[in-house]
Formats: sequence, C-alpha cells, structure tokens
Amino acid sequence: MSEALVTIGLVIFMKSSADIVIVGGGPAGMMAGMLFARAGIDTLVLEKHGDFLRDFRGDTVHPSTMEILSQLGLLEQFLRRPHNRLSGGDVNWEGRTLAVAEFSRLDTPAPFIAMMPQWEFLDFLLKQAEAYPQFALATNAEVVAVAQRGNRIDGVELADGRVVEARKLVLMADGRGSIVRSSALLPLEDLGAPIDVFWFKVPKQEQGDRLRAAICGGTMLVLIDRGEYWQCAFVIAKGNADSIRSRGIAAFRDRIRSAAPELPELERAVPDWDAVKLLSVSLDRLTSWHRPGLLAIGDAAHAMSPVGGVGINLAIQDAVCAANQLAGPMQRGEAIDPLLGQIERRRLFSTRVIQAAQRAAHRNLLEPALQSEGRGKSAPLLMRLLARVPLLQSLPGRFVGLGIRRERLTAPLARN
Ligand SMILES: Cc1cc2nc3c(=O)[nH]c(=O)nc-3n(C[C@H](O)[C@H](O)[C@H](O)COP(=O)(O)OP(=O)(O)OC[C@H]3O[C@@H](n4cnc5c(N)ncnc54)[C@H](O)[C@@H]3O)c2cc1C
Repeated sequence: MSEALVTIGLVIFMKSSADIVIVGGGPAGMMAGMLFARAGIDTLVLEKHGDFLRDFRGDTVHPSTMEILSQLGLLEQFLRRPHNRLSGGDVNWEGRTLAVAEFSRLDTPAPFIAMMPQWEFLDFLLKQAEAYPQFALATNAEVVAVAQRGNRIDGVELADGRVVEARKLVLMADGRGSIVRSSALLPLEDLGAPIDVFWFKVPKQEQGDRLRAAICGGTMLVLIDRGEYWQCAFVIAKGNADSIRSRGIAAFRDRIRSAAPELPELERAVPDWDAVKLLSVSLDRLTSWHRPGLLAIGDAAHAMSPVGGVGINLAIQDAVCAANQLAGPMQRGEAIDPLLGQIERRRLFSTRVIQAAQRAAHRNLLEPALQSEGRGKSAPLLMRLLARVPLLQSLPGRFVGLGIRRERLTAPLARN
C-alpha cells in the first residue's frame, strides 16, 4: 500500500456547492470526478468512507479501461503502480486443461488484464484528479438523501445534516446499495443470479499469467493470479452458504483440493471460516437511470455478476460516456437534463448485452457444473472448440477485455 493512501482520511475540505456533485468515490465516481474536473467543471466527490482500503473489490483492470488511460496519456504512469498481468484464461474441466480466452492478440495499447488492488487504482485516479483546481474530494461524507426543488434534484443531504448544492447535476455513483435504489428514486429490475461466491486467498511462490477456472465433481473454483497469492472464488448455488459451512471447514478444504490439488498449504491459508468471505451475487439494472438533475452510473445503475470481472470496467465506461456527453454542454452553460436520456440509452445497451451473456454463462455453464456430480462429463462443445482453435480464443478475450460499444474520450476531454 502506498503511503499516500493513508493520508486520504485527512482530506476534509468541503465545498457547500459545485456544478457537479458526485456521490461515491469508487471507480465510477473517481473517474467521472477526474474527467469533469479535467474539462474545467467545478466538481465535488463525496465519499462516505475515510479511505479507499476495502478488501476484495473488483481488481481486474481490463484493456478497455487502459485504452481510456492511454487516451489520457496516463497509461505508463498507471502501469508503474503495483500490479500483475493476465494474458488469458484456462479452464480445467474434470482434469483436462482447455485454453479458452486470449487477450495478448487484441489490438489495443495494453492487451492484458492488469490485476491491481482497487485502492491503488482509486488512489491513482485521485492523484490525477488533484492536479485540477476544479476537483475536490470530501471523505467521511455520507449522503443520506437527495435535495429537491420542485421536480428537479438540486443537491444532496449529508449524514451530519449539511446540504450540498449541485448547480448542474447530482451524479449517483454510490454502488449497488445506492440511494436511488433504497429510496426507490429510480426503478430497479432484478434479473436474478443463481450463484454466490466464497472468496479466500492462498499464498504461493511461483508467478503465473493466466486466469484459471477448475471444475470437478460439482465444485467450481476460479483462481486469479495475484503474484504472491491466489485470489480464489469458490462458486456455490445461491443460498447454499450455510449448508456448506455446516459441513465444516475440513470438508470445504477437501472440495477445494479435489478441484485444484496444486493449491499449497490449505490448512494455513483457510484455517477457519473467518478466512472465507461470502459475496452475495446480484444481477440487476435500473430501467431508468435519470431524473431531472440526477443521473446514476456504475454499480448504482447495474450490479453485475462476477463472470468476466467486468464490474469496474463497465463503471469506468459509464463515467467516460457521462463526461463525453455532458462536459462540453456544461462548459457552455447549456441545459443538461435533456441529454441524460442519451447516456442511459447508450450505456443500457452495453449493460443489457453483457448481462445477457452473464445469464447465459450462469444457465449453460455454472448451473450445470454445480449440479453435476461431474466426473466423466465432457466440457461444453463451445469450450472444446475454443481450446482446439487458438485463433478463436481472441473472441471471448475481445468480449471480456474490450466489452461492447466501448467508449472513447471526445473533446474537451481527449486533449492531453
Ligand atoms: C467481493 C467483490 C469482488 C468483486 N470482484 C470484481 C472483479 O474481480 N472485477 C470487477 O470488475 N468487479 C468486481 N467486483 C465489482 C466491482 O467492485 C464493482 O463493479 C465496481 O467497484 C463498481 O464501481 P462503482 O464505482 O460503480 O461502485 P463501488 O465500487 O461500489 O463504489 C461506490 C462508492 O460509493 C461509496 N458510497 C456508497 N454509498 C454512499 C453514500 N451514501 N454516500 C457517500 N458515498 C457512498 C462507497 O463507499 C464506494 O466507495 C467485485 C465486487 C465485490 C463486492
């Protein structure tokens, strides 16, 4: 962890108004904050925590995000931060390893997934944003409600009672527990997710550069290489966590071993259930992302399945789209409410396509793999085809790494 991260809790400056007030300092909020400030817009990001240090968040920075950083002239600097690189993905299906995705052949400035702790990435964005006098971040600033004048949202109310005025827009980037959801400010459609995930870490010695999934006898394990440890995702049927816990940690370790016998020293890595965190997986989206004076982006607008590790990257694309569409008109003093629907339409399309692919993966891969007693059952045809024809592996690599309808920075943001 860099020293600078510790100091974020000291940022106490708080304006009482800004042109754009961004609720949430996650990937969507920090990227949007940096871009709007870069375009000369008076920007305030409100973050309820005192720092960025949250474990096990999305750490997969995809080529699409690094393309944006490259357009900003920031890619080299970004890659100086601690990270490791994944060139592709393999699936071990009942003992047989199949290469299924390849990023290294993508025609893009960074054809790999950069595994960087989310706090490093957020700190990186903060350092860039701080270069612009129009940017301010307030930490320990929890928003509890929006403020409204007539039909238009024109600010937010903080937990300590203060009200912050948003002269042009309130951008909700407060994640899947967003106020737009809990206060039913915007309509939510739950698509249902049949899985949950247990997360844990297993220390290791050797460096690798592949994302690995192992499927064996009804157990599914995804191993993300983080340099000195494996970040492991043990996929379970939704709601099964308690029943698995009740069989004891030793039985859990046995199941891990059966899928990935190469994992070292499991007794030390997973001594008890405290070492295992449960992620409740959601798949949903707002059916409308805006109201006069307010727009939702990132997880606030769409909670994604962990399949493909796309969450951060979609959040970044939303932020870029919002800044592309709004920064120029804001600079020129034009009304921006009529533009909010364009952002929703553009980003909802990508969200729908990716969520449809995630649902297909849930139905056709994850559910059958978890239900099957496994052994002897061969891998799905598509997977066998991908493994046999290496050139095809770039297709899932492209879909996951670059997404659908990827955003490119436009003026006034694109200049260096
Ligand atoms: C365990 C776990 C593992 C994940 N793994 C991956 C992965 O491998 N790859 C991937 O791409 N994605 C992954 N994700 C999802 C990924 O973290 C999110 O998609 C991504 O962080 C979304 O960014 P965001 O900025 O929209 O929201 P968030 O990252 O949720 O950020 C929201 C921010 O708003 C702040 N906030 C919330 N409420 C308020 C409030 N009322 N007032 C002020 N601030 C507020 C929060 O503190 C937070 O900082 C994972 C998520 C979890 C939980």
